[in-house]
Amino acid sequence: MKTIKILTAAALTAMLAFAFMGCSSDGGDDPVLPLPPPHVHAYSDSWTYDENQHWQEATCEHTELKRAEGAHTEDNGEITSHKNCESSGEITYKCTVCGKILRTEEIPAGHVFSSEWSKNETHHWHKATCEHSDLVKDKAEHNFVNGKCECGYIDGIDLLRVTTTSSADFGPSITLFVQRTEMTQEIYTAVMGENPSTFTYAANLPVNNVSSIDIIYFCNKLSCMNGLEPVYAVDGETDVTKWGYTPHKGDYLRNHNIITADENANGYRVPTYDEFNKITGYSGDSLVKGVKEAWSEAHVWSNANSDSKTHPVATKEANEYGLYDLLGNVKELCWTTSRDVSNKNSYYPMYHGASYEDTSKPYAGIRSNGSPYYKHYDMYGFRVARNCN
Ligand SMILES: [Zn+2]
Ligand SMILES: [Zn+2]
Ligand SMILES: [Zn+2]
Ligand SMILES: [Zn+2]
Repeated sequence: MKTIKILTAAALTAMLAFAFMGCSSDGGDDPVLPLPPPHVHAYSDSWTYDENQHWQEATCEHTELKRAEGAHTEDNGEITSHKNCESSGEITYKCTVCGKILRTEEIPAGHVFSSEWSKNETHHWHKATCEHSDLVKDKAEHNFVNGKCECGYIDGIDLLRVTTTSSADFGPSITLFVQRTEMTQEIYTAVMGENPSTFTYAANLPVNNVSSIDIIYFCNKLSCMNGLEPVYAVDGETDVTKWGYTPHKGDYLRNHNIITADENANGYRVPTYDEFNKITGYSGDSLVKGVKEAWSEAHVWSNANSDSKTHPVATKEANEYGLYDLLGNVKELCWTTSRDVSNKNSYYPMYHGASYEDTSKPYAGIRSNGSPYYKHYDMYGFRVARNCN
């Protein structure tokens, strides 16, 4: 019996082995099953948090599990309620990961002030931009360092109020503010940030080597720095940064017909030719166009006495109006709606007064054409004026 059993087992084993070798695919009764896939925990995409931590909870049956657990990190805050003049506002700080509101901060109520300075000839201040527009903050007198206040105001533009004597030749009396001296290199540099002058051997020399466009650019820039209305416009634009022009660099504006001046603006400008004629005379009676006797050694730096260079301003005597160097030293720009040029709608550059070297005895009405108006020459300079309203 035992032998038969052994044989039977051996036969069965052989048969099974044969069956598996010969027919592996028909295992309808196959006892070997594939393993089930391992369990992967599932988590929520949204955040759960407490006071200190945030995390994502498991959504499978293992609800005690957490992922991405960490401490809150605070963002930079966002204004969630704007303050106004009477009521406070609020800044809310949140966690950058889970969005939990971590804290809020009050913005105290108060008026809103401009960050730009407002100014007049003596003071500067910040004005309110809320509805309480009459309020001012930080009002103080200008405090000059190298001729310039922190508000941008430029000191040292020494303007004299001049009322000219009427005369048959030059018509009725006029009143305007005129700079007592020619524009100095110190002031020019404080405004423009550079000094193009070719004579720099002494203090208080007039600025020279400037073009007509440099000068009106300077006038508008100074007006803005001192809180006044700019006078000149290029193609209707008074903002010099939009003129497409770099002073002293030779990238010229070649069409002077697009330059205009606002005759009612209260900012800085150069005197017109007509005004120069009126302020140059030594007295009402002797102010005669073309008079040659206007020159005198005591009043004028010309090529009779200049040694071919400019001299510090106000080192000769002033004329009867208290103005220095109206003849000689540098020629002075007058942009003018001149009666001498045909197009009255456009401004035209002329230079008044002769210079340190182009003639020995300049006379009261002496002038020269400013063209080509975009050139800068050693002999060119200027002084500023303002309307007297
Ligand atoms: Zn699970
Ligand atoms: Zn968080
Ligand atoms: Zn207010
Ligand atoms: Zn100031």
